[in-house]
Amino acid sequence: MKFETKAIHAGQEADKATGATIVPIYQTSTFTQDAIGVHKGYDYSRSENPTRTALETALASLENGNHGLAFASGLAAATAVLSILKPGDQIIATDDLYGGTYRLFEHVFSPLGINVTYVDGTNTDAFAEAITEKAKLIWIETPTNPLLKLADIEGIAAVAKQNGLLFAVDNTFATPYFQQPLNLGANIVVHSVTKYIAGHSDVVGGAVIVNDEKLHEKIKFYQNAAGAILGPFDSWLTLRGLKTLAIRMQKHDENAKAIAKSLLEHPQVLTVNYPGLSPQYQLAKKQMKGFGGMISFKIKGGYEEAEKFVTSLKIFSLAESLGGVESLVSYPAAMTHASVPPEERKKRGITDNLIRLSVGIENAEDLLEDIEQALAQSAQISLVH
Ligand SMILES: *Cc1c(COP(=O)(O)O)cnc(C)c1O
Repeated sequence: MKFETKAIHAGQEADKATGATIVPIYQTSTFTQDAIGVHKGYDYSRSENPTRTALETALASLENGNHGLAFASGLAAATAVLSILKPGDQIIATDDLYGGTYRLFEHVFSPLGINVTYVDGTNTDAFAEAITEKAKLIWIETPTNPLLKLADIEGIAAVAKQNGLLFAVDNTFATPYFQQPLNLGANIVVHSVTKYIAGHSDVVGGAVIVNDEKLHEKIKFYQNAAGAILGPFDSWLTLRGLKTLAIRMQKHDENAKAIAKSLLEHPQVLTVNYPGLSPQYQLAKKQMKGFGGMISFKIKGGYEEAEKFVTSLKIFSLAESLGGVESLVSYPAAMTHASVPPEERKKRGITDNLIRLSVGIENAEDLLEDIEQALAQSAQISLVH
């Protein structure tokens, strides 16, 4: 089965009990047993729930993995992966991470004795150089947030394999429609399904997908033991979103291409970060089937110009998050990456004039017009300066 078909059918057979064509929302905490310990595969919804199972099966299928696990958020999914580590272990991670993942590493796991070494993800050799005898896990995002830098999944997978490390890829930005890390040698895929997978900005959820049986057992044990599971209704909403992932991603990609190109040509724009226009274009072509809907750019000027731009937009909403059908704009330095200390932000290129767009699936001309008028407003500020 091909991707579009799996998104609609994998794990989503007609309901055995009733024939319901769409997986029902099994809004139940518990399941009646025929006799002590005799049940139909489900006993308590923290452990397993049929609606969640359907989603977990579908997600595994789309990532070409054997096992999927759904969590209450992307960060709950990340936490479940990190639960396989012990005090003293070392993680090697890309430095251009989602702010919440950085916070989780630095303020939750680092105090527990799990040390994270950050490297430039664009430099594959840097991973090998950072490895100590305590290293257990390599963790990357590609494309990264918010600078849309790419890491070479196959190259880093080879480093992980040579050194006997596990290799996790946060695939939230690309989605399995555009990039399938397990096929490229990763051991673990992590998602914030909050973003493109659910796709409608109405769910917070996460997922982990793996191939290895033992790894699945460990993470599933943690899922049940710690309990941050995705509820039945959110699982159902995510399944509904998943059905249109392929056509949504095509449209996100098409709109983002048009916007990136127009930004690049605009006198009010200094630089554009977008995999399709990047010095890493060849790598993008190699490991991604499309470039996705995320763009960031540096506007001429500083905070005031950036503020004027984001508040002048009429279709793009100023909001955290990304990956929904509606276009969003964010200001990383004070929003998504506020939890990264200022010096660290500057070092990573998250400057006061950096703006991030999550390009939705509205009409491209409407979006282009909106950006054009907001850039004109911002230019007025530059004139005053
Ligand atoms: C949003 C996001 C997360 C965290 O997911 P939540 O669902 O908000 O917990 C992790 N990684 C990336 C790349 C994200 O964009």
